[in-house]
Amino acid sequence: MELRRSRVIAAAILLGLLGAIVPIAAMAYISWTIAVEKQQDNLERVAEQTIMRAGRTFEDAKLALDSLAYPRLAPCSPQHIARMRVIAFNTPSVAEVGYIENGRLKCTSWGVEEGEVDKAPIDYVTPDGLEVTTHVQPAASMGNPVMALHYGGYSVLMDPARFVDILVEDDISLALANQDGLLISKLNSPDPALVETLSSGEPRKGMTSSSFYAVARDRGLIAIAMEPRANLAAKLREEQFLLLPVGAFIAIFIVGIVAWLSRKRLSPLGELSIAVRKREFIVHYQPIVELKTGTCIGAEALVRWQRPDGSLVRPDLFIPLAEESGLILPITDQVIEAIIAELGALLRMDRSLHVAVNLSAADVTSGRALDVLEDRLAGTEIESRQIWLEATERGFIDIDAARATLARARERGHAVAIDDFGTGYSSLQYLQGLPMDALKIDKSFIDTIGRNSATSSVTSHIIEMAKTLDLHIVAEGVETEEQADYLKARDVNFGQGWLFSKPLPAPDFIRYYRNAKASREDGRGNIRGVAA
Ligand code: C2E
Ligand code: CA
Ligand code: CA
Repeated sequence: MELRRSRVIAAAILLGLLGAIVPIAAMAYISWTIAVEKQQDNLERVAEQTIMRAGRTFEDAKLALDSLAYPRLAPCSPQHIARMRVIAFNTPSVAEVGYIENGRLKCTSWGVEEGEVDKAPIDYVTPDGLEVTTHVQPAASMGNPVMALHYGGYSVLMDPARFVDILVEDDISLALANQDGLLISKLNSPDPALVETLSSGEPRKGMTSSSFYAVARDRGLIAIAMEPRANLAAKLREEQFLLLPVGAFIAIFIVGIVAWLSRKRLSPLGELSIAVRKREFIVHYQPIVELKTGTCIGAEALVRWQRPDGSLVRPDLFIPLAEESGLILPITDQVIEAIIAELGALLRMDRSLHVAVNLSAADVTSGRALDVLEDRLAGTEIESRQIWLEATERGFIDIDAARATLARARERGHAVAIDDFGTGYSSLQYLQGLPMDALKIDKSFIDTIGRNSATSSVTSHIIEMAKTLDLHIVAEGVETEEQADYLKARDVNFGQGWLFSKPLPAPDFIRYYRNAKASREDGRGNIRGVAA
């Protein structure tokens, strides 16, 4: 039983640890995935915004270039130059407009071009026909390198920053490329290697060992937003702040449940119900003898709880708890089953032998044990009169139900004995009304025999009372010859006690029974071995 306890405790500790770790680990993992998802969603939004912004900037440039074609004005005339200036001014993304003839820049929105300036070499052409030069050093405004878009004899110079002109946090970097991976514009110096792999690949979002990224594609453009993974820390803390307490709460809850269950499991009631489930109850049989002849006429079945380590628990230690909890009912069943399995053969062989079963108050009130008996006895050829039923006055709480059960028991052929007779408060009249066959005088009265004349007079009175009822009488707890003689002298027919035998395991009882029978037959001059 210690083994079982320590196994339960070990299992409880293991479950408790798991119950504490798993929810917290799960919440840590969930906070991480939520933080990552939020981070990536944000990057995705930035990439979408970037691609929209870039697309709109291209559209603006295309509109500007389209509107330069009409009305036709004399090339590089003051009106022509004024018109170019108006368009450059009205299109925020366009810094300068140039007019090109035969591959040479003739004039710009600033005025007539004096030097020999070639049209910038074209890097690629957009799906709607715009020729793009990604890197141009403007002739007129000597600023940063710019981008040039060419269409229908005109070029517009644009600040590439215009394409990625959206509001982002400092640690988010952006790259805008065409579908061949040619970098058009960037913000906050994105990692060039990552830009290269992403612009050729398919993924929409993801992470590398150092960065999160998101990619958006539209009309031949690719926008890539990325940010260092270190940025996750702040978001992660935010999520953990919310979720870790939830995990801790669940952990506490689970640990509490485990503690509660294991305490319940380790409680006497928990152990008893496991013992019932594991059928740990065995039966010992105490011989009942005819006092005059010493013949063994029966046995009382006394239950014992055999713990897994082999130790036996006395019934007084668990029967009260079993009765209180209702577990006595399955225990009674197990006793009945044990009797049939262990003594069935002996009972079939010797029809004068009986076995007495102790009924609990619940068994007496419900009468359920009778149905179990009928069911288990069916087909065994054990006669129901060979099974006696012992009921104590404690079982007569509901006297009408008890009377009905006892009457039904006798109808089925069982003999009914009132156990612990003399210890209750019931009057003789009260007992007279009950259907019964035998009385068992309680050990406490037998104990007084030969000790004290004052109390032994009570004992003789009890015996007289039992005789008045005209029933079989069994004296319990007979330990001395003196007691046996006293009982014999007062015509008590049966006795049970250590003087004859202690309660025995079935094989020992069978041996006892055969030996007693054989020696008796020997004594009468019969041949030894007939009964054995
Ligand atoms: P009980 O029905 O009065 O059983 C007699 C008790 O007296 C047994 O104790 C028996 O071992 C003991 N006994 C018999 N002769 C002597 C003797 O000479 N000297 C002494 N000192 N004791 C003797 P046990 O086996 O410990 O059972 C105790 C009680 O537990 C029983 O008292 C009975 O009330 C209950 N019990 C036992 N088995 C069952 C069962 O299967 N079902 C139910 N409901 N109760 C049971
Ligand atoms: Ca009894
Ligand atoms: Ca008794």
